[in-house]
Amino acid sequence: MQIQLVDVLNQYKKIKDEIRTAIDEVLESGQYILGKNVFEFENNCSKYLNIKHAIGVSSGTDALLVSLMAIGIEEDDEVITTAFTFAATVETILLLKAKPIYVDIENDSFNIDFTKIENVITRKTKAIIPVHLYGQSCEMDEILSIAKKYNLYVIEDAAQSFGAEFKNKKTGTFGNIGTTSFFPSKNLGAFGDAGMVFTNDDKLAEKIRAIIVHGSKERYYHEILGVNARLDTIQSAILNVKLKYLDMWNSQRQKFAKIYDELFQNSNIIIPITKLYRNHIFHQYTIKVERRDELTEFLKSKNVPFGIYYPLPLHKQKAYFCKNNFLPNTEMIANQVISLPMHTELTFEMQKYIVETILSFYK
Ligand SMILES: *Cc1c(COP(=O)(O)O)cnc(C)c1O
Repeated sequence: MQIQLVDVLNQYKKIKDEIRTAIDEVLESGQYILGKNVFEFENNCSKYLNIKHAIGVSSGTDALLVSLMAIGIEEDDEVITTAFTFAATVETILLLKAKPIYVDIENDSFNIDFTKIENVITRKTKAIIPVHLYGQSCEMDEILSIAKKYNLYVIEDAAQSFGAEFKNKKTGTFGNIGTTSFFPSKNLGAFGDAGMVFTNDDKLAEKIRAIIVHGSKERYYHEILGVNARLDTIQSAILNVKLKYLDMWNSQRQKFAKIYDELFQNSNIIIPITKLYRNHIFHQYTIKVERRDELTEFLKSKNVPFGIYYPLPLHKQKAYFCKNNFLPNTEMIANQVISLPMHTELTFEMQKYIVETILSFYK
């Protein structure tokens, strides 16, 4: 059986004509930077999320970078986040010479443990970046109330949770700013790099719009330091087509997650939990297992693809190394998690084979 970890190609084939028409329209329009397509996609996203400003950017990483720049993060500022996330969350803090301050994660959701945030707040703390890992929201009420109490910014990293909700409100719309990624394998994926920034704050929106075009509101006049981080026009045309399918695709993922849950019933495998008030969109279906290294070798021999997100937490990375961090859950969980194939093109036969193979390893 041929199983893909993610299957963007077969998803594309189902909507090929629509996508090609959209790309052709851009090519024939002669407008390859910004323009109507980007504007329309931004409008559709702001409606979808119910947020005032949706600003297309070049990637999820740049979305984080320009957000941190917009709130004025600078040298020696401290930004609280998790070490159990993709590198970009922390890389962008370090690029601005600020300091990531790591808080441990919850053992069940793998998201930042809000009960430990207050312990690490200092006079230098400027912001919190909660990451909605694997498609499930963090505890946003608690995080927002801590931020309010200490006058901190909140930037949500919703790269894995576009469409996920907390108390019927979309992730990415709780903080001062939300960011997401349209990397091809994300739940809403472009055919290249793309991302977006969300905010209800007019001033921040205006600043971000300037930062992504070299810090200028009027061309060739630069008021603030910026970068080139625009959303590509062809990508926005593609994403505009795909956005219509997102809710359907997310419910397919939820259905497949339920099937995995049922197939793992009465086994020792720890399946993902969906916490109260959440709509988990299963960017990843991530289980916890014993003897993971042996299991992964076995899965390779049986042609079952898998992902480990993330094998080495960020506080242990050579490039970001920081001493004296005590993150017991993060370190334990990084050795236990394994993500199974999760995409819109799964079949019951594939899921059955994947689960039976895993269970046969533990027999
Ligand atoms: C994918 C991802 C990013 C970065 O997005 P890119 O579009 O690849 O730059 C940032 N944070 C998290 C949590 C991600 O999963």
